[in-house]
Amino acid sequence: MATPTQKAGLLDRSIAHLRGIGPAKAELMAKELSIFSLGDLLYSYPFRYVDRTQFHRIIDILPDQGNVQVRGKLVTLTSRGENRKKRLIGRLRDESGAALELVWFRGVHYLDRKYQVGEEYICYGKVEEFNGRLSITHPEMEPAREAVQDGAATFEPVYTSTEKLNKRGLDERGRRKLIRSILDQLSPADLPDMLPSYLCEELRLISHYDAVRAIHLPANQMELDAARRRLKFEELFLLQLRLLQLKVSREAQVAGYAFGQIGKYFNTFYRDHLPFTLTGAQKRVLREIRSDLGRGIQMNRLLQGDVGSGKTMVGLMSMLMALDNGFQACMMAPTEILAYQHYESLKEYLEGMDVRVAFLSGNVKGKARKALLDDLAEGKIHFLVGTHALIEPPVVFQNLGLAIIDEQHRFGVKQRAKLWRKNAPYPPHVLVMTATPIPRTLAMTAYGDLDVSVIDELPPGRTPIKTVHFTEHRRERVFGRIREEIAKGRQAYVVYPLIEENEKLDLLALEAAYDEMLHKFPRPDYQISVVHGRMKPADKDYEMARFKNGETQIMMATTVIEVGVNVPNATIMVIVHTERFGLSQLHQLRGRVGRGAEESFCILQSSVKLSKESRQRIDTMVETTDGFKIAEADLRLRGPGMIDGTQQSGVLQMRIADLAQDGKILAAARERAITLLKTDPELQRPDHRILARYLDKHFKTIKGWSLIS
Ligand code: ADP
Ligand code: MG
Repeated sequence: MATPTQKAGLLDRSIAHLRGIGPAKAELMAKELSIFSLGDLLYSYPFRYVDRTQFHRIIDILPDQGNVQVRGKLVTLTSRGENRKKRLIGRLRDESGAALELVWFRGVHYLDRKYQVGEEYICYGKVEEFNGRLSITHPEMEPAREAVQDGAATFEPVYTSTEKLNKRGLDERGRRKLIRSILDQLSPADLPDMLPSYLCEELRLISHYDAVRAIHLPANQMELDAARRRLKFEELFLLQLRLLQLKVSREAQVAGYAFGQIGKYFNTFYRDHLPFTLTGAQKRVLREIRSDLGRGIQMNRLLQGDVGSGKTMVGLMSMLMALDNGFQACMMAPTEILAYQHYESLKEYLEGMDVRVAFLSGNVKGKARKALLDDLAEGKIHFLVGTHALIEPPVVFQNLGLAIIDEQHRFGVKQRAKLWRKNAPYPPHVLVMTATPIPRTLAMTAYGDLDVSVIDELPPGRTPIKTVHFTEHRRERVFGRIREEIAKGRQAYVVYPLIEENEKLDLLALEAAYDEMLHKFPRPDYQISVVHGRMKPADKDYEMARFKNGETQIMMATTVIEVGVNVPNATIMVIVHTERFGLSQLHQLRGRVGRGAEESFCILQSSVKLSKESRQRIDTMVETTDGFKIAEADLRLRGPGMIDGTQQSGVLQMRIADLAQDGKILAAARERAITLLKTDPELQRPDHRILARYLDKHFKTIKGWSLIS
């Protein structure tokens, strides 16, 4: 993100000019933390504060207390283990008489010399319990004596640092000194306010200058809260303003075809071929899409809907709207299997109707390919379904009116740009479908300039998937459950995590598991398919196909099956080492079962010992199948930026706002931004000029990222 600097000059100056920093240290700061200028330093806010007057008594600390600050004497310090397993273990005893263990795995050699037995330290970190003993791994340590000398501050900022910086004296205290020296040189004129004053008054926000000072050196909690509120609002407001501006300007610039009518195809389908009643959510989304398509502005809509919520049907019916207006449509998926599944579904839904659907992937070659491309160019093919092959230059449509992209986050920006060029004079309308639910706050930011539709209702008559948690020593019981399902004629998935650091290990683990499975499920009574990331695509497809056709009853797989295989007869999924999977991944995986009429089961197998976070993840999975609830939990547990579907979005790297927590501020910021643009769309009012300049200057780089296609 851009730094809100206004004045070229002071804040743009290199930190090398600061007292106490020379070229070498400046270079180190740049390398380690990407801090180059005074402005970079000023706008790298503390990530927490230490109230130097508040300490926990070690004797009172509970195992699940979280972060604690204690003050005590280092009574022992010893290094144990050899070479790479080497660690440093200290014991800190406070006035309560109890002791706490401190553990370091990194920097053992250096820290061994740095810390002195007998010295008093202030020590901060997260408490954990191992074998009944409380310990903190890699605590923040500061000699108590220095902390006192350091000045009056009882409320001290703590900044991100690294071992290398620490060694060069740019540790916490060093950073504090630098910040003080910058703040001393700054006057309010150096940090003018870009928010209009009426807004600050109305929302009771302190000025930018005051906030920046207070965020580094708050006198008390109240001041800190006021600074945080101001800076969070400012950050979110500026971003929302930019996103909304982009949306407005795109809508003004990018004309699209107006699909004025709903006609024969859509109506015939609706009346005679729709195999079920649409859910309320499907109807609502179709209305939204229809109104977009009729406006004469290119549609860029994101459709979110949980696995099984019926997105394909919404896609198909939108395609029929295009056809009714004389246009072709296409549907793209990230893998051949998925694309082919869509092709088959569309053909099945459209049976008996005069609509020509074709399939294209890299594997369609030679004569068949040529014939297909000719037909497409002549408009004889109405709907084309396929992989990225669809957007390669040789594929020419007669008139592409609508493109549907399934599972958007696997489609890169470049591929989307290609799609835009597929048609003239106007680009096709675009509907992106994703089964990764994104929490509202994230959607508002990562896709803040898009229109978002949500299918938040599953078709009726589904039996909810039963999810249970088993520890791994109850494996026999799990095998038993698999046998029961197979005896009923059903099929089973057994999913293993990828050991990403080491693919070989990964394969070995899978092989060992395969041996065990062969033993438990012997041939010829049972047939097992195995699929993993290292297989050739053709072999993978072959194994998947065998499972899909029912030739094998068990599918052992690493996460490759995540992406949408549809085998309604599979009613049980066992996830091995559940603790190694992220929440959204687990949710996606689980969505592979529960696709038929039968009741389905998901067994989360894990080791006995679990971290608090793993346990929370597993509990969440057992409690709910609602993708949005799971996404919210994921956001709380992991923070934004780690959520699937939003990684590439630079807008999520925020300085101070936290999308997991600041939903209210975000909503207020968005609302104010909307109001402001309504009254002054071009930001021409005198009190908005500084805003306009700021936005132009600092958001240039992200112009265009928001075009989903
Ligand atoms: P998604 O792509 O959202 O995961 P699909 O489009 O594959 O979901 O739909 C899942 C299943 O639900 C399909 O078998 C589909 O035919 C069925 N389905 C979709 N909409 C409805 C509905 N309104 N009523 C009953 N079944 C539906
Ligand atoms: Mg789907």
